[in-house]
Order: sequence, then structure tokens, then C-alpha cells
Amino acid sequence: MYDVKKIRDDFPILGRTVYGKPLVYFDNAATTQKPRMVVDSIANEYYSVNANVHRGVHFLSQQATDLHEEAREKVRAFINAKKTDEIIFTRGTTEAINLLVDSFGNEFMSEGDEVIISAMEHHSNIVPWQILAAKRGISIRVIPINDTGELLLDEYEKLFTERTKIVSITQVSNVLGTINPVKQIIAIAHSHNIPVLIDGAQSVPHMKVDVQDMDADFFAFSGHKVYGPTGIGVLYGKENWLDRLPPYQGGGEMIQSVSFEKTIFEKLPFKFEAGTPDYIGTNGLAKAIDYISTLGMENIATYEHELTQYAMQRMKEIPGMRIYGEATDKGSVISFLVGNIHHLDMGTLLDRLGIAVRTGHHCAQPLMIRLGVEGLVRASFGLYNTKEEVDTLIAGILRISTMFN
Ligand code: PLP
Repeated sequence: MYDVKKIRDDFPILGRTVYGKPLVYFDNAATTQKPRMVVDSIANEYYSVNANVHRGVHFLSQQATDLHEEAREKVRAFINAKKTDEIIFTRGTTEAINLLVDSFGNEFMSEGDEVIISAMEHHSNIVPWQILAAKRGISIRVIPINDTGELLLDEYEKLFTERTKIVSITQVSNVLGTINPVKQIIAIAHSHNIPVLIDGAQSVPHMKVDVQDMDADFFAFSGHKVYGPTGIGVLYGKENWLDRLPPYQGGGEMIQSVSFEKTIFEKLPFKFEAGTPDYIGTNGLAKAIDYISTLGMENIATYEHELTQYAMQRMKEIPGMRIYGEATDKGSVISFLVGNIHHLDMGTLLDRLGIAVRTGHHCAQPLMIRLGVEGLVRASFGLYNTKEEVDTLIAGILRISTMFN
């Protein structure tokens, strides 16, 4: 039984008010709220274990190291990677993508080589490739979308050339909610012997992810979007790829030995983890994974799907409502505009009613251009949201629409 009332009790922030109104938090695609057990684990580790990892022979250091490495194993099991060595801790999805682009780009790409991305990418899967393009003269090819917000797979197939070196695609769009058929996308790339990076920032919080089943070569996600702490994220990579990639940053932790003549790098995964890692964050992430695993990813997905269906249906009752993203396979994100009400006005007035939504370009300006809009309002749901909250949103939008009319 999915008991959302009980679940909400685990998130103290959901009990607060905003402008005297009960908070309705619908900005989960930006970041999620944290269950008490995650926040407690962070405080407890600082209070009772804190010591730098991998360095000390002393008790605390070993205990902190154990927690940190247990977290790596927890992440491995969570996304079903084959080995813990394939789990690299980063600051988040953005850093994970930058790491891969820099390292892969330096090793395997030269002037004239191509990366395939899509029209619905977040800036964090566009700008790093553009930086590489400026440095090494690579070019970026873009899979177009149709008007319901789905990738055009026929066009995708046509983008492969002998210069294609990698494909980098989001699993779920943070604007359209589209769930891309990544297994198929990866299979097509592999038929050309091309590896694929999947941006899992918006998929991992909402569905069961199995990197071996989808056969991703690289996969990135952020802890803070999956009910864990900020500042921690993951890059998964198949061992045979990671072994061939050069380090991203240099420093402590990532070396076996250093002399002024020569440095020997550590083995995986430490080769990619220069400096003191966020070991408190990794343990916090592990607790978040425990939390959602206890609820069950399938249960979360079913619950959120039903909630989103309900919200979509209620949204369509609103006169002048335009929803952006109506893919058959859609996650718990609804982006919209009503009549000619500016997205910022809608967001600001909803906020006054205690409803937190996101407004603007959602770090996807090329997608805004494709959709012919300057910005959108986005309501995105998490495992603790309810139909009553959706009703509050609908009532709020109706009230604001009436004001503008
Ligand atoms: N990719 C997608 C699809 C996202 O939605 C986001 C964040 O909104 C990111 C990447 C970047 O995540 P972060 O800011 O946690 O690095």
C-alpha cells in the first residue's frame, strides 16, 4: 500500500506554510525535498564519524571510508552496474557530463568528429560539447523532435556518419516530460559501434533504472533530484571504457605515486576522483536510495504516473491551456502556458498562493526556440505530491486566469 500521508510525514518541509498558505511543492524536477533520515544521517555523520576518507589508519577515518564505499556499492546495486569500480562520484549530473566530455573528447575526438545530441537536451548536455567544439573543432548534430515532443528516430539514424564518435541523450526531458526509448537509441548507436552517454537526471528519481539492461556506456545523475543531498552525483561508465579514458582532474586521491618526473594514476574509480570526495554526501545519497528503495521504484512510478494523468486531465479543463509535451510515454513533468499570461506572472501569482512551480527557459533554450516560446511554467511532481495539491494548483491557475481576463 502506497501511503502518501505517511510518506509526507517523513518530509518536515512539506508541513510549512508560504505566505500563510500550506506549501504545495511542484518544483521537483529542479530539486526534491529530503526525508528526515537523509538529513539526520548527514548530521549524525558530522557529529559522530567525521574524518577524511582513504587516508587515515585511525578508527574514524576507516569508519568514514567504510560508509563512503558502502554508498558506492549501494549506488551500484541501485542502477544495476556490474562493478562498484564503475561508479564515479561527482558533484552532480553537470559535473559527470563535463568529466565525460572532457576525458572522452581529449582521448577520442579530433577536428571534424561529431557528437549526436537531441533538441530536448538540458544546457548541461549542450554547453560542455560546445566548449569541446571550440577547443577541438568537433561538431554537434541534433536529433529533431515532433510536435508532441518525441524524438524522430528516423532522423536520428540519418545523423550517423563515419565521423560520429558518441551519442549523448537525456532519458527524460526536464521540460516535456518525454521518456525517450533509450534502449532502442543505444542499440542503434551500438549497431554503428558508437558509445552512448545517458543523462539520467530526470529518470532516476522516477523509475527503475538498469544500466546493464539499457546497455548504456555512460550514465549520469544527481543526488539532490533523488531525495538526497546537494553536491553529490554519479557518473557510471562501463569498465572497459573508463579504463581507456584519461583523468579529468589531478590531485590527491587519484594517484598511486607521484614524483616530479612521473605520476602513476590510481585504478578505477579513484582515477576520476581527485581531492577529498564529498563523503558525507555519498552517505546521504545512500540513505536516500534506502528510502526510495523501501518504497519501491515501481510503486513510486505507478503512483506518480497516476498523479500526472490526473493532473493532465484537470489541466485540460482550463480555458486557454496549452500543454507542451504530450508524448505517449511521459514522466511527471507538465509544462504549460495559459492564454497570453506571461510565464513569470503565472509563477509569481501561484507562489503567492503557496504553490511552488518553475518558470522560464528551464535550462533548455534551444528547446524553447523549437517550441516557439520564450519560457514556460512547469509543475513537476515527486513521490509525496497528492491529488489534493493538484486540485489546489488547478484552482490557482483558474483564479489567476480570471484575474487576467
Ligand atoms: N540534465 C537534466 C535533464 C536536468 O533536468 C538537469 C537539472 O535540472 C541537469 C541535467 C543538471 O543537473 P545538476 O544541476 O544537478 O547537475
